[in-house]
Amino acid sequence: MKVLVVGSGGREHALCWAISNSPLCDALYCAPGNAGIADVATLVPIGSEDVDALVRFVQDNAIDFVVVGPEGPLVLGLVDRLTALGVKAFGPSAAAAELEGSKGFMKDILAKYGVPTAFYERFKDPEAAKAYVRKHGAPIVVKADGLAAGKGVTVARTEQEAFEAIDDALVGGRFGAAGAEVVVEEFLDGEEVSFFALCDGENALPLASAQDHKAVGDGDTGPNTGGMGAYSPAPVLTADLQDRVMREIILPTVKGMAAEGKPFKGVLFAGLMIMQTPDGPVPKTLEFNVRFGDPECQTLMMRLKSDALAALVAAADGVLDSIDLRWHDRTALCVVMAANGYPGDYARNTEIRGLDKAGAVDGVTVFHAGTKRAEDGRVLSVGGRVLGVTALAPTVAEAQTAAYKAVDALDWPGGFCRRDIGWRAVGR
Ligand code: ATP
Repeated sequence: MKVLVVGSGGREHALCWAISNSPLCDALYCAPGNAGIADVATLVPIGSEDVDALVRFVQDNAIDFVVVGPEGPLVLGLVDRLTALGVKAFGPSAAAAELEGSKGFMKDILAKYGVPTAFYERFKDPEAAKAYVRKHGAPIVVKADGLAAGKGVTVARTEQEAFEAIDDALVGGRFGAAGAEVVVEEFLDGEEVSFFALCDGENALPLASAQDHKAVGDGDTGPNTGGMGAYSPAPVLTADLQDRVMREIILPTVKGMAAEGKPFKGVLFAGLMIMQTPDGPVPKTLEFNVRFGDPECQTLMMRLKSDALAALVAAADGVLDSIDLRWHDRTALCVVMAANGYPGDYARNTEIRGLDKAGAVDGVTVFHAGTKRAEDGRVLSVGGRVLGVTALAPTVAEAQTAAYKAVDALDWPGGFCRRDIGWRAVGR
């Protein structure tokens, strides 16, 4: 099978790495990819949101299967275009991708199908939104409806903060069209965890849990980023809770989307809050994403023993029933290395040395994100998040030790990482 992976981050490197090991894979391409992906796939110089050019490449090269990494091309309808041409693709249609593309749509689906989540209302009128805030009081959460690169959510500690977030979106137009409507919702207190499931439109198969670290600094300080590290599994999501998440959150959502005529195929990434109640822990849905997380994907692919490509194809074919996934009973932990200055303005084109030494540490794979190979063979950083140093080990503490040993083997003065990835699980 000829496979194209769309994207250029650590997530796509992990997907390419896993897919290239599949006996079903005869040829692997990645658009646009990065320096690490070039070791396992042929790079295609097409941006991940250039849907027309991607479709042309697929047709010209008789690609059999397309795996879409990021949400951008999904929301733009890449999978719809490919499906219409009879090309199989992993990822939801644009209509189903609205689960991530519109928080209002997502909340309405959850409410309609009885999926546990924070109570909420949708607003276009700032005064009505403020009246709702006054009625419920702070803390309260204000969310721009559309995609805002993780910056559209304000967890407001005071009513005033909520008012400002409402005005920013609805009056100031801070998020453009993505903020022309807001969701105002109940503040949920608890421990956050991510859960991933493969979906084939009718059914869902559990993948695994993970926890990420969004803040740039140690101890979860400083501004938020795309993710500075992750580990899987997350001990907070016990086997019982995972069953409950499948039963109460994932399956009703998949059935609901099918009933709406928008069957969901691809990976459903549920952002959950585990709330402690007198009756024990209760999972509630904070958000859905319609693709793998980055860097969570790196940890999932390291733990997966089964053929990743066979599972992704089965999801696209609507035959997940035929798949039995096997996992390493170990923990994978990914430390993201970013360019100095990230998530603000960051340095570019700095040389990264020691990649071989880092990759030689027992149990470690170094996934690339924002890297490119210069003509003279040097590896240069070209993005904000640059490497995902990922270790697989019997315990989270050992995975943490191995990952930082590999980080310390790198010679890259132009980059930095958090030194405490996994602290919550190590402390448990
Ligand atoms: P991401 O960057 O993860 O894609 P997003 O813009 O899609 O974020 P959400 O995930 O919905 O937005 O919210 C971002 C963060 O805000 C969550 O990870 C969580 O920490 C916090 N948050 C969101 N909703 C709530 C809530 N109802 N109660 C408490 N915290 C919340």
